[in-house]
Amino acid sequence: MIASPEKTARLVRGERGTFGVGIVVCLTLFGLAAALFVSRDRANLAAAQTEAAAVVSALEDARSAFAEETRLQAERLPEAMARARVQGAGPIRLPGATETYIVDLERDLAPGAGRGAEWPAMLAAAAPLAAETGSGGALLRGPLSDRNASSPWGAPRSAIALPDGRPSFISVVPYLGAEGVRLALVGARPIDPAALAALARAADTQRLDLTLAAHVPAEDAAVRLTTTPDGQTYVLAWRPQRPGERMVENVAWLLIVFALFFAAFTLAHARRVTEEVADEEAQTFEAVGQDPLTGLPNGTLFARLLEGEIDRVKRTVNEHGAAVLHLDCDRFQEINDTCGPEVGDKLICALAHRLGNLLRASGRLARLDGDRFAIVQTDVVGPRDAEMLARRIIDALVEPFEIDERKLYVSLSIGIALCPQDADTVDELMRRADVALYRAKNDGRNRYSFFEQKLGDQLRMRKVVEDDLRTAIEAGALVLQYQPIMDISGKRMVGVESLVRWPHPVHGLISPANFIALAEECDLILPLGDWVLRRALHDMRLWPDLKVAVNVSAVQFRQKDFGETVERLLQEAGIAPERLELELTESVLLSDADAAEDAMIDLRAMGIRLALDDFGTGFSSLIYLRRFAFDKIKIDKTFLESLETAGEGAIIVHSIVHLGRALGLTVTAEGVESADQHRFLQALGCHELQGYLFSKPVSAADITRRLRAQDGGEQNHAAVA
Ligand code: C2E
Ligand code: CA
Ligand code: CA
Repeated sequence: MIASPEKTARLVRGERGTFGVGIVVCLTLFGLAAALFVSRDRANLAAAQTEAAAVVSALEDARSAFAEETRLQAERLPEAMARARVQGAGPIRLPGATETYIVDLERDLAPGAGRGAEWPAMLAAAAPLAAETGSGGALLRGPLSDRNASSPWGAPRSAIALPDGRPSFISVVPYLGAEGVRLALVGARPIDPAALAALARAADTQRLDLTLAAHVPAEDAAVRLTTTPDGQTYVLAWRPQRPGERMVENVAWLLIVFALFFAAFTLAHARRVTEEVADEEAQTFEAVGQDPLTGLPNGTLFARLLEGEIDRVKRTVNEHGAAVLHLDCDRFQEINDTCGPEVGDKLICALAHRLGNLLRASGRLARLDGDRFAIVQTDVVGPRDAEMLARRIIDALVEPFEIDERKLYVSLSIGIALCPQDADTVDELMRRADVALYRAKNDGRNRYSFFEQKLGDQLRMRKVVEDDLRTAIEAGALVLQYQPIMDISGKRMVGVESLVRWPHPVHGLISPANFIALAEECDLILPLGDWVLRRALHDMRLWPDLKVAVNVSAVQFRQKDFGETVERLLQEAGIAPERLELELTESVLLSDADAAEDAMIDLRAMGIRLALDDFGTGFSSLIYLRRFAFDKIKIDKTFLESLETAGEGAIIVHSIVHLGRALGLTVTAEGVESADQHRFLQALGCHELQGYLFSKPVSAADITRRLRAQDGGEQNHAAVA
């Protein structure tokens, strides 16, 4: 693709814009995701820390509560029991659920105090606590507010220890007797499932587990309780709440929605950019003179190329000229209609390719539009060179094209104009090549044709005539004349044939022989035929006893609704169908005999009469006569002309008359100009006569006058008789 720099820049800017937006959005999404994960971890961590603090404080509370409980128990101890220990041999266990002993601090708990099998293990755990009792309240914790100042019991100390291998709360309450601290109350309460449940409740956590630190799963949180002598740490472990996850979940939805939204936006944007690019491309092609379908130069660029070539031809001193070949596919529209425009497009491309291969360095190929191509051929010494190229092109199309597994045959018509012989400007060369192309088409297509001056003049003339004729038909400026058809005596008018004339302001009354063929070519024959039929039916009302013949062109007759139109017009004019005679030529029957036969049967069924005009000039008249239901044959005037000069004219007329009579048809002779011809036809038994001998075509008013004269004459005859 070739693009103008500004357009390319604009496209690139557009793409960069999309790219930039994409990058920004991606970075934003990435940042959001990262921030989300960071804050998720933060939230989780903060929640875990809060929980851990709550567990620690619940643990402290439980320990203080147990210490306080032990002290209250001590307060309630009778003095006697304390004394009993002083006198007794060892620690005294108090009755109750928790293990509680009255101990002698020196004898029972001092390091190296007697240890027997019955010695309670918890006392060993309590020993370190007891050792601190003298040193002041370093470990003193828990609520002491309701402590009775006059009580002999001191502040309790408590800790978590492993009295029998199980983590337990231990409290020591010293007895402050007169002799100083001698006695103490020591209590232990294991951290059992009930205690754990209470702790969990107090700390508002999931279920708390008492376990060794080594056994805590990675995702669980833990708070240290105590460490065994062999270094193993007991912890309280629990599954922490993870509020970050919920947050991620919620935000993730937002992100997904946003991402979807963005994706939709990007897609829409991408599509718009694509469309714009396609648009721009088409415009770009146009701007640089390239045909978007084939990539060939278009008409605009071709004109520039041709101009360059003309300049070169003008500058060079040698004989080398150039040629313009105007190529047009024959019946391409049919292929387009039957196979579809996609196939048509492919065919155009394949054709362009084949032509390009053929041309190589000898010129430039361009696609003007649709199925029209043009070539500027360089280094042309004479018409031979252009002719050879044209011939090569036509030969190259003998081979069919294979499109979508279909074999397609295509032919070209080529018009050639030479530079400088024919013209030396772009416009004139193109116009002349076009004129030559027109002639190639007219001469039967699939051929080439050179421009000739005379051809151009003819064409120009033709165009003028066509325009004038169109105007005349539209303005109703044509004239319909009538030529009498006589009975064999030549005295009585039995019918008339309507013959159209064109009164031209410059050229006078123009014969239909000079414009009917043109009207058929440029689609003017339908309005013309319609006008003639209406006019004839209108005039017929003046002559109730005459049959009126109307000439019908093949184009007109082939119209699907021709029969209906005639029927309607007859009804509108109030004319009996039997009075109307349609004159058809063989050309009506040639193209589609079946359709023609059907149409004729319909017309005859209405009562309309049919005549085969110009009989004998075609080449298969006899066959038509047998197959088609005519009422009449009209012997062409050329046979009458040759009656006197050549012997065979007489033989042919003789044969036609006899043939017609044998088939039961009315036989009419046209172009009767002399009394000899009349006598001859009379002798043969011909039925009707038409010709200048009786009358030239005349106006409707003249026919009316003649009828009156004829009727008057007949009445006189009758009166004489
Ligand atoms: P056609 O149907 O064969 O008409 C007879 C032609 O012979 C007429 O020529 C007529 O003027 C001419 N003619 C008649 N008698 C003589 C004679 O004795 N000697 C000579 N030399 N010619 C005679 P015209 O009027 O010039 O018409 C030419 C053709 O144009 C007609 O040939 C007909 O085919 C066609 N035509 C005329 N009017 C119409 C029309 O309304 N529609 C159509 N489709 N064709 C028409
Ligand atoms: Ca006729
Ligand atoms: Ca005729």
